[in-house]
Amino acid sequence: MIVIKRQHELDIMREAAKVTAYILDEMVPGIIKPGITTADIDRKVEDEIRKNNMIPGFKDYGGFPASVCASVNDVIIHGIPGPKVLEEGDIISIDTGTIFKGYYSDACRTYPVGKISSEAEKLIRVTRESFFEGIKFAKVGFRLGDISHAIQEHVEKNGFSVVKDFVGHGIGQNMHEDPPIPNYGKAGKGPRLQAGMTLAIEPMVNAGNDECLVLDDEWTTVTTDGKYAAHYENTIIITDGEPEILTLLQE
Ligand code: MG
Repeated sequence: MIVIKRQHELDIMREAAKVTAYILDEMVPGIIKPGITTADIDRKVEDEIRKNNMIPGFKDYGGFPASVCASVNDVIIHGIPGPKVLEEGDIISIDTGTIFKGYYSDACRTYPVGKISSEAEKLIRVTRESFFEGIKFAKVGFRLGDISHAIQEHVEKNGFSVVKDFVGHGIGQNMHEDPPIPNYGKAGKGPRLQAGMTLAIEPMVNAGNDECLVLDDEWTTVTTDGKYAAHYENTIIITDGEPEILTLLQE
């Protein structure tokens, strides 16, 4: 069942998302550099969330041990922060979120570590662009499949693969609510979009094939060909007009 949020619920979600936006668009870009560990990044993000009197949305979610997923290079999603030291040329996806007054926010960016290859730069750029191609259809009058289709089309047109084993999701009092939001599919299919739906749209894009492998820790999900993967996500509100992107820092 897709939960349509009321105005006071949307206001809480806006607050929850503001902190996530600040972390991903302002704070994290300033701390990612060669030499930092993924555990360092996790600790700084958790401190910032708690400083704002919010709860890290990921910590202990389904048993996940940290406040961010830190996914480096061929790790697609769910990388566990630890002693890994970032090196020049790496790319890292930081996925995080908050809980405020019982409501979740969820967002992700992929960042370059120092100078990266032009192929990696293109992967990050196309992944981000595919989110914005998708949300051109994130408004009343369209269906969920219109978003999915637009994302897939943009990714594949650029020679990359969309991950199919993991998908975006509705979000609210639960991090994962209906509807599931695949990053692939047919235009004109799926649920009709309604004002007050809150969605976490999150293209996960592999530079090579679309296969995923979950490692023995039961979290870390990697590409099977060793090629890089990127991820871009925001929590949005469907309205009658343009979607409201909650987890993007407004200039
Ligand atoms: Mg998500």
